[in-house]
Amino acid sequence: MVEKRKKQFILIFLLLILVVEVVFLVRRMTLDKKASQTLASVTSEKNMIEESLNSLNHSTLENYVTSKDLLTTSNKAQEQVETSIKKVDEISNISGKVKHQKGQLLTELQKDSKVIQLVQNKIKVSQEMRDIFGTTPFSKNTLVKNLAITKSVSSTLQDDLTSQVSALPKGEQKSALEEGLKEVTTQNQTLATLDKEMATYIQKDKIKTVPSSDEYKKLDKAVSELKNDKLKKTYASQLSLLEQEVIKNDPTLLNDDKKVALTFDDGPNNTSSLQILDTLKKYDIKATFFMLGSMVDTYPDVVKKIHDAGHEIGNHTYDHKDLTKLDEASIKQEIDSTNQKIEKLTGEKPTLLRPPYGAYNDRVTKVESNMSIALWNIDTLDWKTHNPTAILGEVKKELQPHSIVLMHDIHQDSADSLENVIKYLKSQGYTFVLANELIN
Ligand SMILES: [Zn+2]
Repeated sequence: MVEKRKKQFILIFLLLILVVEVVFLVRRMTLDKKASQTLASVTSEKNMIEESLNSLNHSTLENYVTSKDLLTTSNKAQEQVETSIKKVDEISNISGKVKHQKGQLLTELQKDSKVIQLVQNKIKVSQEMRDIFGTTPFSKNTLVKNLAITKSVSSTLQDDLTSQVSALPKGEQKSALEEGLKEVTTQNQTLATLDKEMATYIQKDKIKTVPSSDEYKKLDKAVSELKNDKLKKTYASQLSLLEQEVIKNDPTLLNDDKKVALTFDDGPNNTSSLQILDTLKKYDIKATFFMLGSMVDTYPDVVKKIHDAGHEIGNHTYDHKDLTKLDEASIKQEIDSTNQKIEKLTGEKPTLLRPPYGAYNDRVTKVESNMSIALWNIDTLDWKTHNPTAILGEVKKELQPHSIVLMHDIHQDSADSLENVIKYLKSQGYTFVLANELIN
């Protein structure tokens, strides 16, 4: 009896184990199935992530560019990766084969995450660069250029850049940044030297000591090497302060390159020409006026005034005819009559001839062999735009050493633009000379 109960007991026990085992197995199978489903869904999501990664790699690794789209794509991809990792991480109590699949998927996701972070880092650097230098997109060359024109880049900014460089993988971007940093460093050294030297000559916009002309030339060279326009302007205006004093001691400095001649055509009249005279006087600048004989007849007093103020007067024909369309006698008449009128008023015969429209030929040079043809290389187009901003814009665009600037003193807008043109030329370190000096 006892024996039978014992057997029954063992049987029930084994049955119980079997039931537990079956329940466990069923549960394991359910979990495995659920896990496989999750893994399958994550794998299909991973395809999407890979697509985004491909597009990111394409846009960022080849061209060092930045855009909102890239950031949005990378953020989305990163989010997807994180969700996927979480989902896969949550899978537990699974059998060996599924465990292996899970491990593989996790590794791949983590790899993707790293790549995305790298891309995001690049976009971040690129954006910061854009914030600092105000340009986008970046190519290697523009990056270097933009780095080079930064103002006295602070050491903090340099440290930032250096750390950003070290965050990048080796390759184009890194070398571009390094090159740019080198350029910035050179600029900073130039600035530091300039600051120090300038301080020995100028204090609070007052001259302390006058440099020798050699010292002055060194300063001038350093300023011309500055790549930041704003800084260049500041130093150039300090330099022009010194220049006047240096020239007093060494007039040969005037032979240096940065010379510009202001010329005014088609006048004079008794309104805008007078305003121009006032502006020139304010800045102690001498200019050249190419007058029409007909206007000399009308405003003889203004002609005298211009001459008395020390300006140069040139010939612009009697009534603005295209000389290439005239015969020799007419050419002679146009020019000689004007010369005589000017000489009668001022006691000086003009030596410069500016043919209307810049048009001349062999006939003209033969008839007037004693006069020099005076053309120009900066046409402010003031007669066309009548716009002081546009006039200054043309000067900025075309300025180079030994420039002759063409304006018309009969236009009010030209007179109004003159002060800013002068200020700009001074800021660039230019000295004002008569057209005669640059032509002969
Ligand atoms: Zn003209």
